[in-house]
Amino acid sequence: MRIYVCVKQVPDTSGKVAVNPDGTLNRASMAAIINPDDMSAIEQALKLKDATGCQVTAVTMGPPPAEGMLREIIAMGADDGILISAREFGGSDTFATSQIIAAAIHKLGLSDEDMIFCGRQAIDGDTAQVGPQIAEKLEIPQVTYASVIKKSGNSILVKRMLEDGYMMIEVETPCLITCIKDKSIKPRYMTLNGIMECYSKPLMVLDYEALKDEPLIELDTIGLKGSPTNIFKSFTPPQKGVGIMLKGTDKEKVDDLVDRLKNKHVI
Ligand SMILES: Cc1cc2nc3c(=O)[nH]c(=O)nc-3n(C[C@H](O)[C@H](O)[C@H](O)COP(=O)(O)OP(=O)(O)OC[C@H]3O[C@@H](n4cnc5c(N)ncnc54)[C@H](O)[C@@H]3O)c2cc1C
Repeated sequence: MRIYVCVKQVPDTSGKVAVNPDGTLNRASMAAIINPDDMSAIEQALKLKDATGCQVTAVTMGPPPAEGMLREIIAMGADDGILISAREFGGSDTFATSQIIAAAIHKLGLSDEDMIFCGRQAIDGDTAQVGPQIAEKLEIPQVTYASVIKKSGNSILVKRMLEDGYMMIEVETPCLITCIKDKSIKPRYMTLNGIMECYSKPLMVLDYEALKDEPLIELDTIGLKGSPTNIFKSFTPPQKGVGIMLKGTDKEKVDDLVDRLKNKHVI
């Protein structure tokens, strides 16, 4: 069994957000972190590796410096890394990103026991679209919002979170599961041994030449030019004024609020 974990390097949004003139994010000028939901996906995969001895492969599509992030994940316990990187892939929207990642996994092979783990959502694009789209491209079942993943016989048992509870789902492999950040999942740290060895572990780079003839790739729909979705403009919204805490009994607060809305001609 092999688990591909799709991991996105995202800008540390606690820092200053920088935007290029074409509306894409100026990632090189911002501190980069591993997408929080992807930390859960990594931990879920490493837990299954502890239990079954399966292979864990970290996969990312990004600029060459994203290799550093893959080495960190290998130092946490992953076996190897795949960096999908080419100028032609830059500025890809979710449709393009998912087909490129699906094509890379298809090229490396997805056997019957294998799985793909993704985070539910990236904190920059925030679309939660890439995981489900990869599953569609590879024509495999998908389960989203997973907080617990267990192997049970030949299938996988997933605790899927809902707004008001959860459901238990049994899914056959190969499948794709998107993971949420959950207090029950404590991502592990890199180990000293892991740090010492992470540069001796295999890391494959797949560029445009390596993927352009893959059947899952439609060359005219990738990158900034080909992507069906282009970011027209991205900007930091102006800070809103500070809120007002209404005081008094519920009735007094409601009366006060109605007066204020009337004064502002909102109602
Ligand atoms: C502010 C902003 C708004 C955007 N709006 C849109 C939009 O409306 N529509 C659109 O198509 N694109 C949009 N994009 C582009 C989009 O961010 C990229 O296509 C991105 O590669 C994937 O989408 P996402 O960030 O929403 O990821 P999500 O779909 O939220 O990511 C879900 C999971 O997929 C995996 N994943 C995502 N990207 C990668 C990667 N590069 N490498 C490995 N795994 C990955 C991770 O496991 C991640 O947790 C936007 C980008 C920005 C910065």
